Amino acid sequence: MKNEILTCKDCHREFVFYVKEQRRFLSKDWKDPKRCPECRKKRKKTYTGTMNCRKRLVHDIIRLKEMAA
Ligand SMILES: [Zn+2]
Repeated sequence: MKNEILTCKDCHREFVFYVKEQRRFLSKDWKDPKRCPECRKKRKKTYTGTMNCRKRLVHDIIRLKEMAA
């Protein structure tokens, strides 16, 4: 195994896919990463943000229902 240079799907920058990471990906049976670590982090943040938003929305709906009852 050796470090690989991959191109990010999002920002089209090249990034290193380190052997250490390759092992981790392999052990989890993941495919090669399509995005650089930065874009991955960004996407993760967006995803978590959306989840929090949804949770809050559900909470508001429950409260509205309680108020209406
Ligand atoms: Zn990127």
